[in-house]
Amino acid sequence: MLNLSSNDYLGLASRTDLRDAFLGELNDSGLSLSSSFSRLLTGNFAVYNELEQLIAERFGREAALLFNSGYHANTGILPALADKQTLVLADKLVHASIIDGILLSGTPYQRYRHNDYMQLEALLEKHAGQYEQVFIVTESIFSMDGDVADLRQLVELKKRYPNVLLYVDEAHAIGVRGRNGLGIAEEQSCIPDIDLLVGTFGKAVASMDAYLVCSRVIREYLINCMRPLIFSTALPPAQIAWTRFVFERLPEFEAERQRLAEMSGLLADALRGQGGEVSGSHIIPYIIGENDACILRAEELQRKGFYCLPVRPPTVPKGTARIRFSLTAQVTEEQLGELIRILGQKNMSI
Ligand SMILES: *Cc1c(COP(=O)(O)O)cnc(C)c1O
Repeated sequence: MLNLSSNDYLGLASRTDLRDAFLGELNDSGLSLSSSFSRLLTGNFAVYNELEQLIAERFGREAALLFNSGYHANTGILPALADKQTLVLADKLVHASIIDGILLSGTPYQRYRHNDYMQLEALLEKHAGQYEQVFIVTESIFSMDGDVADLRQLVELKKRYPNVLLYVDEAHAIGVRGRNGLGIAEEQSCIPDIDLLVGTFGKAVASMDAYLVCSRVIREYLINCMRPLIFSTALPPAQIAWTRFVFERLPEFEAERQRLAEMSGLLADALRGQGGEVSGSHIIPYIIGENDACILRAEELQRKGFYCLPVRPPTVPKGTARIRFSLTAQVTEEQLGELIRILGQKNMSI
């Protein structure tokens, strides 16, 4: 089947040329396959600091910090930085890992309607004065709708208050968007204004681990206070070297990014009226509504050679069960044409 449910957005995870070149380098490097401890004890290796420095340089920021995964990052950052004098204002559709981080922090929080910055503005006006610090938390490309946050507007909003910080998760955008593949923050020219810029290397970057781009002070603070960083064995140096190998090359994958954008436009256009129009990215929802109908349609598409999966509540709001297409740069126009033709057959088998 053609995989239309992959997070390997640029097709890099299956590139044997990259893999072979890397394995040659790895053999010569003598890097270990285990770190054998947390970074705070004996698990820190030079390659970690080198990659952090490279990330900070590429983003043009003071500092970066690596974590074992995006889940570690999102469940560790807010609990370390927030306290009872903190308010978190999060988009209604943020990822489960962010919600877990908010809950673990025990801090007061409110969710604003998805991408509704009018409501966010009203919440800030009402509450910002009552707390020492406020975090606005959002994704850049949203996991289930594929729509894109207006980060510049969020920056403009947060700048009106001295105590408001902006936290953005670029899990689906790193590698895929921006001139150098640095994400939506690069595309919208607001990297310097985002206090906490998070992303994972497990998706388009074809590796593991995650990063935070931030100030030096926040980095130092997290090293001292962030539990998932302190109490978990660090990833193997060899894995970090692979992340560095791919991350270093991100600017070179412009052709893949363009292709992905073109293919995404084709499918989103075809799904206008059925969910496609909300997407502004390579994640394209095909909203069916009822759970059973959604499962049947996914099975039908699978029988016809397209591996796509039904996504149901509670992952998405009730009544919006959908097939979540996530495209990669390897999908061809021909394959998409066939998919679009099948989607257009009104009654498939249901
Ligand atoms: C996938 C994802 C994560 C988790 O990242 P992992 O590295 O897989 O743990 C975090 N946030 C968002 C928005 C994601 O889509």
